[in-house]
This record gives sequence, C-alpha cells and structure tokens, in this order.
Amino acid sequence: MAAEIAITDGHMHFYSQAVYRAEEERLARADQSYREGHAVWKEGFKTRFNSSFAEDPGDDTEALAAAWEKLMAEAGVSRGCFLAVNPDSDDLTEFTARRPDKFFAIATADPRDPECAIKFRRRVKDEGYRGLKLYPTTGKYLLSDPMVYPLYEEAQSLGVPVTAHLGITLSYDADLAYANPIQIHAPGRDFPKLQFIIPHFAAGYLRELLFLAYHLPNINVDTSGTNRWLDYTPDSFGLDWVFKKALFAFGPERIIFGSDSRMLSQGYRTAILREQLGILDSLNLGDTEKTLILSGNARRLFRLP
Ligand SMILES: [Zn+2]
Repeated sequence: MAAEIAITDGHMHFYSQAVYRAEEERLARADQSYREGHAVWKEGFKTRFNSSFAEDPGDDTEALAAAWEKLMAEAGVSRGCFLAVNPDSDDLTEFTARRPDKFFAIATADPRDPECAIKFRRRVKDEGYRGLKLYPTTGKYLLSDPMVYPLYEEAQSLGVPVTAHLGITLSYDADLAYANPIQIHAPGRDFPKLQFIIPHFAAGYLRELLFLAYHLPNINVDTSGTNRWLDYTPDSFGLDWVFKKALFAFGPERIIFGSDSRMLSQGYRTAILREQLGILDSLNLGDTEKTLILSGNARRLFRLP
C-alpha cells in the first residue's frame, strides 16, 4: 500500500487501561442523572456505530507498543502521532519512549488548571512531546477565551503546533456551543507564528473552515477519521470534493493525513487510509504534493525525524 511513501499518521489516539480506569472513576463520581444519560448515550453509540467500548488494552506499554508497531507496519504506516486523552496521565510518555523513532506524543491540557502551561512545557521540554491538543467542545470553553492564551504563548515559544478538535464529535460531554471553528480566528491572528491544526476537516463546519483559510495563513487541517459528518450536512458532496476544496483553500502544504486509529481491537483503520489514498490518486496530485499530505507536513509541523 503506497509503498513508495513512508506514511506518517498525524492523528491517532492512545488508550491504555489507565485511560479507561480514569473514565470509570470519573463516572463513579458523577451524579445519577449524568450517569443515566451517559448510559443511554453509550447504548446508542454501540447500536449506531457497531463499536464496542469493552476493551481491556492492559497496562503493559511494551506489549501495546509491539501491537501498534505490527498493525502500523501491516498498513504501511511508518510513524504515528498519538494524542493524549488525559493531561496528567504518564502512560503515553512511557508508550512513545518504547519506539522513539515511530511513535510521537501530543499533549493535552485543561486550560482551567492554573498549572496547565507549566505542565505542557514540561511535557515538551522533558518528555519530547510534539504538540498540544485542545478539545473545547468537551472542555466547554472557547479557544478565543483569554484563559487559553498562556497555552498558546507556551506553544508558540516552544515551536509546536496546537491541534483543536472542533465540529461534531462522539463524546457524550460535547457541547456544540463550543464547536464552531470561527473561535480560532482571534488566537490565530494573535499568534501568527503558532500553527493550528483542525482535525476531520472541522467535522461539519467546512464552510467556516474555508473562511479561516481565507483569513489566516497558520491554519492547517487534518483528514482523520471516517468523516461521517458528511452524512449530517444538508449537502450531498463526498469526501473527494472536501479534499478538492481543502486543496484549493489551504494548499497541499497545510493538509495532514490522519486515520484517527485508537482501539487495538479495531486495529489500524486501513479502510480510512485506503479511501483517502484513492481520493489523492483520483485528484492527479504529483508525488511531491502526495508526500506532503501523507507525511511531510506532519513531520515538519511536529518536528519528527
Ligand atoms: Zn481523534
């Protein structure tokens, strides 16, 4: 599969047992109505997406590293950027250190934590993390909130990008009031040397994403996930058209391939890779452009070897 290009996956997640344990503890602390709503959502999720939650990936980071290494090699993927789920969990640090030439960690942060910028700096300086991921829809804050600015200052001074999940999302805790990518305009303008990455083509907010491309040169987009949001827009275009618009608005230097692979039981999401490779072929891109999207941009932005 695309043997000529050593693919870099710019958007994966790392789920260890510690992540599931933290989630169980959080649920146990929540009040009853939250737990009931969460249970209904979980059942609906399983039915709609035919996807289970009941995975026990274990705590052995070497076993997890070996398993992911095998899955990625089978898919023809050379490097993977793994987004942290919890700001304070150290298992991702341990996991990426197992394969330092293949696995790379992206930190996450809670902007309400007064220590968040210091903690993030430590992750990058001491533990080799390559970027920061923010999730405003579940954190219930706007990216334009001054509360988030110390994190941008830190990321800009460290020279690492900020990934911001916007648009619709699978999480029960999401609040769509915080989903519109337009909120990134102000920090994007205020931090011109900071690179922002918006995953999943902004998951439903393609129009707003393209507006950002018109205004700012430091917005990048990642292609990750199934892009099922396409089924929930009133338009009838497909992912190939989304790629075409993104190529026009952002250019091949600001598009990053990602699969959103996350669960060992699901394996590496080769169907997503295959679909997107097919689209890139159908667009008659040259090898230079394809290499940028499939590896070069992620390597440049995240400073990967
Ligand atoms: Zn993701």
